[in-house]
Amino acid sequence: MTRRSKEPAERDTQLARLVLGLRSQGVTDPAVLAAIERTPRDLFTPDLFKERSWEDSALPIACGQTISQPYIVGLMTQALTLEPRARVLEIGTGSGYQTAVLSRLSRLVYTVERYRTLMRAAEARFDALQITNVITRFGDGFLGWAEQAPFDRILVTAAAPEEPIVLLQQLKPSGVLVAPVGKGPVQQLCRYAGDGAGGFTMDVLCEVRFVPLLEGVAREL
Ligand code: SAH
Repeated sequence: MTRRSKEPAERDTQLARLVLGLRSQGVTDPAVLAAIERTPRDLFTPDLFKERSWEDSALPIACGQTISQPYIVGLMTQALTLEPRARVLEIGTGSGYQTAVLSRLSRLVYTVERYRTLMRAAEARFDALQITNVITRFGDGFLGWAEQAPFDRILVTAAAPEEPIVLLQQLKPSGVLVAPVGKGPVQQLCRYAGDGAGGFTMDVLCEVRFVPLLEGVAREL
């Protein structure tokens, strides 16, 4: 039996409540909050966890991966300081939830995923939501997307074991890259900002728990 999504009015209430919670935790950018409010998270969660779509917590998805916690999605999106003309690279499509939020705030989102199953499911969700400014790629995000570089913004939604040098090389000189960095179960959420002359400054925003960035594409049966 598949569980039905919430009725639209109830979904709106749940979304408004979620957004209020994020604001109280420091996600205050009105455009980011509006993008989250326009993105029905219950479309991105698996049937087993539909009821928990509105909790501010990460949830399991297929292939042993997770859909990010809404607060972290808000925090990372806010830290990117997106502009409507931005071309954004995302590593780790997962459910596509973060991708959908990014798509509301930028011109084009390129997103890379190493599980074909996840990528296909995310594509179907973008279609259902009539999101047309996302370009997906099945591949190894460690390599970025050289053919489309440089990007205005890069977001990594899996933990990089160390400074993501290859990705930083695909960023515009004044671009911003946000990534969890660290080898253990807890990583540091890092924000790299280009100085316009080939260098970067790095700030640690907080501690986070992400699934690791793994090399190569996943082999699936
Ligand atoms: N933003 C996603 C989070 C997904 S979890 C969401 O909200 O649903 C992180 C994702 O990164 C997983 O789907 C995982 O398969 C993917 N991933 C890990 N290593 C990768 C790599 N080298 N290239 C591309 N995707 C990768």
